[in-house]
Amino acid sequence: MARKKPKPKTSRAKASRPNRNRGKAARVKPPKARRKADIRAAHGALPQWTKAEIDEAFRRFAAANPVPKGELEHINPFTLLVAVVLSAQATDAGVNKATPALFALADTPEQMAKLGEAKVRDLIKTIGLYRTKAKNVIGLSKQLVERHGGKVPHDRAALEALPGVGRKTANVVLNIAFGEPTIAVDTHIFRVGNRTGLAVGKTPYDVEMKLMEVVPEKYRLHAHHWLILFGRYTCLARRPLCERCLIADLCKWPGKTVNIPAAAVP
Ligand code: SF4
Repeated sequence: MARKKPKPKTSRAKASRPNRNRGKAARVKPPKARRKADIRAAHGALPQWTKAEIDEAFRRFAAANPVPKGELEHINPFTLLVAVVLSAQATDAGVNKATPALFALADTPEQMAKLGEAKVRDLIKTIGLYRTKAKNVIGLSKQLVERHGGKVPHDRAALEALPGVGRKTANVVLNIAFGEPTIAVDTHIFRVGNRTGLAVGKTPYDVEMKLMEVVPEKYRLHAHHWLILFGRYTCLARRPLCERCLIADLCKWPGKTVNIPAAAVP
């Protein structure tokens, strides 16, 4: 008996087929494809976010974590400043392991200056670049005593004049210690801004300026922490966890690993 030829699938039949991939995790793209997607994104090749999309993204960040907190342990503005200086090219967890012993001995600029560089170096030797950092911690402590009456100044220029303090550190201190709506762009925020297309820029300063322009004012105070935590735990450098990302439908990254339809944001 002759075998029946299978019927060709009509476009109607195709259209009625359920899209099994909708909203589910897609095949994870290989690292090369993800790198390519990151390069495209960094070159500003992604569609711009609309105001409504940006507002929606931050509305979701705020709903998920209304009062986000940084992860560097500190007791006061001075210990915050020291912890941020120590965190350059190091993890917050690594810094948090070393600082309790340091801050138990010195939690003011006067005490830190008295402790001396050799002792500070010994207490922070588990942190990368500890020799330079110990020198800077002592230098900034002395400067705070000599020029600012032992207080951390609420002033960007004065902060940036301290040894080991750059724009990013000043932004963190202004944000956490003084409640200024600054956005400190670290490696995580730089990646998230460029990858998602939310704030594309060649340098951290460019990304900071773009974020200050596009983030709605009411979300600016916490934007720094939302984006850092998001980059640290969800939009990871090597393998972003798109399948559990709360802005996956808004994200413009071509390397996304979920087939989620774009959100209908007006
Ligand atoms: S979907 Fe989310 S986790 Fe994935 S790249 Fe976009 S922002 Fe990052």
